[in-house]
Amino acid sequence: MHVVIVGGGVIGLSTAWRALERGLEVTVVDPAPGSEASHASAGMLPPANELILEQEDLLRLCLSSRERYPAFVAGLEAVSGRSVGFRRDGVLDVAFDQDGLAALEEVRKLEESLGIAIERLDPGECLAHEPALAPTVTGGLLAPDDGAIDPREMTPALLAAIDAHGGLLLRERAIEVIMEGDRAAGVRLAGGASVRGDKIVLAAGCWTHGIGGLPPGVVPEIRPVKGQILRLRSAEPYLRRTTRAVAGGSAVYLVPRSNGELVVGATYEERGYDTTVTAGGVCELLDKARKALPGVGALELAEAGVGLRPAAPDDLPVLGATAVPGLLLVTGHSRIGVQLTPVTADLMAGLLADDLVAGLAEPFAPTRFAG
Ligand code: FAD
Repeated sequence: MHVVIVGGGVIGLSTAWRALERGLEVTVVDPAPGSEASHASAGMLPPANELILEQEDLLRLCLSSRERYPAFVAGLEAVSGRSVGFRRDGVLDVAFDQDGLAALEEVRKLEESLGIAIERLDPGECLAHEPALAPTVTGGLLAPDDGAIDPREMTPALLAAIDAHGGLLLRERAIEVIMEGDRAAGVRLAGGASVRGDKIVLAAGCWTHGIGGLPPGVVPEIRPVKGQILRLRSAEPYLRRTTRAVAGGSAVYLVPRSNGELVVGATYEERGYDTTVTAGGVCELLDKARKALPGVGALELAEAGVGLRPAAPDDLPVLGATAVPGLLLVTGHSRIGVQLTPVTADLMAGLLADDLVAGLAEPFAPTRFAG
């Protein structure tokens, strides 16, 4: 069975790798794999967050992905021979006022009820864990078993894994799905060539619905949600672990890498396909970061970037078979695509290899948008 996957972000590439492991033949089509949302992403892997905690199906998916992460990374690092910057040295949430503290307490109760290891910290303990924090910190939570991954290391590792399993990468843009009767049978490329497949998977992030050739309504509109994000740099890591700061009703996350990079993210803006880095966006992120880490202004501003998160009309992932035989979708992971990568790839590989729709995947079927 030959599977053609259009889109080589973390979602398309991980699906390709897992499908190859299941013995399928795979071709990935992408002019610039790993270049879009997956390149911008901070790669934060918190246990859950307040947005997910109230959505049962999504929460189950997140928890399943969290469980799968260590084995996913071990397998990927072994086959690719590359490190992916996976860290499980804790995620620290800190508050700077009483409202923030109350919000963290709600999160703690919910996470504890799910069996997630979580420790309540007083201000002194927060500062002992992260000495660079502002002394105005009012308290925090530490999830000691969670952490982050570096998506900029993960996509090259996935490409190497695909190559090691004999998968093919075509650095071209797909313009339309080729239909044979009522069935998807391949994709036509911008250069004029075409590639045939038994199953076609569209994983092109917020460009998925722009791929032509399909009856209307089969692919829901996947809107772009703009995220501006900064990368600061210091000689030594400025923080010990991923830290999220809640203050005045908003949050900023700070993800350190072992090479001294500190990722500061991210804005969440509904501005279509606009990818402008704005002065306002940079100020907003730096202001929030400085409230949590007063010394952060001394760090080098190495990069100010933008990514477009792929979001479905109901803001939930879209994964599985469509109404068109042979056509599957996997997209719409919005702000948690890296978190959801292992479970998404496993569910998609199960579907492709065995036509198996796992219970976990059912609520996210693309056909929920039909009609
Ligand atoms: P993308 O990475 O956007 O990949 C889509 C791919 O499709 C691209 O490579 C593109 O070249 C290709 N493509 C498009 N059109 C075509 C075509 N016609 N033919 C062929 N190929 C095509 N998630 C987390 O879990 N943790 C985080 O901390 C986090 N932080 C984030 C911070 C920011 C600023 C942003 C923007 C996102 C963040 N996310 C985070 C979300 C996460 O990055 C996304 O959910 C995830 O990267 C989506 O991956 P994807 O493969 O679906 O899409």
